Amino acid sequence: MYVWVGLWLLAALSGAAGWEEQARTQMVAEIEREFYATSLASGKSALTPKVKRALLEVPRHLFVPEALRSAAYENRPLPIGYGQTISQPYIVALMTELLEPKPEHVVLEVGTGSGYQAAVLARLVKQVYTIEIIEPLASRARARLKAQGYTNVEVRVGDGYYGLKEHAPFDGIVVTAAASHIPPPLVEQLKPGGRMVIPVGGQFLVQSLMLVEKTPKGEVLTRQLLPVSFVPLTGGH
Ligand code: SAH
Repeated sequence: MYVWVGLWLLAALSGAAGWEEQARTQMVAEIEREFYATSLASGKSALTPKVKRALLEVPRHLFVPEALRSAAYENRPLPIGYGQTISQPYIVALMTELLEPKPEHVVLEVGTGSGYQAAVLARLVKQVYTIEIIEPLASRARARLKAQGYTNVEVRVGDGYYGLKEHAPFDGIVVTAAASHIPPPLVEQLKPGGRMVIPVGGQFLVQSLMLVEKTPKGEVLTRQLLPVSFVPLTGGH
């Protein structure tokens, strides 16, 4: 009898926690394993508590098409329409950590896509500006972020290669599509002391995740971290 009551209680409690929360906990555990395995290349061996909290809180299943919701917490990219993808959770986590976000930061994202990376960042910094070149993706991401109560993310439609001059300089810039080179306008719009994370390389070639740092004196240092695979940065530049 006690066994049944116990089982019932267990079922009731796990039901209350929701499948999403359990799935997010598993997703974060998987990210942590991958962080550890890639720490030599990335320079980041573990998640910081605040990034971990953000990953545990953002409902990733609401950023993917309804038919793919059950796969939302698997550690892989998923299609979001228009030939684009939401990045793999590990990559979102790594790019976020590499930016070293602080509560007073203003950050620019190039490649809004689903809006998931922007949502994660919005929990860690003061303001996020994010640019998307495909208008329907931008409007969907905007509506999604608004419905979830984010007030510190602004979604713009345009070619992110040129950045967003009126809100520059930025403490951090994250580019979530692969560029053939580091866009000079983005380097220009980075604050001294700021960091940019960007995949560089051709569409069918190996791309490298790069960390660009602007020193307080304005010197630009670049470091190649690890091989990655992103959709290409498009646009007329
Ligand atoms: N950060 C996204 C993943 C985006 S995939 C997420 O969390 O879901 C890359 C996105 O970059 C795609 O939506 C693509 O349309 C967009 N993109 C490609 N070239 C761009 C450009 N020049 N300017 C702005 N967005 C661009």
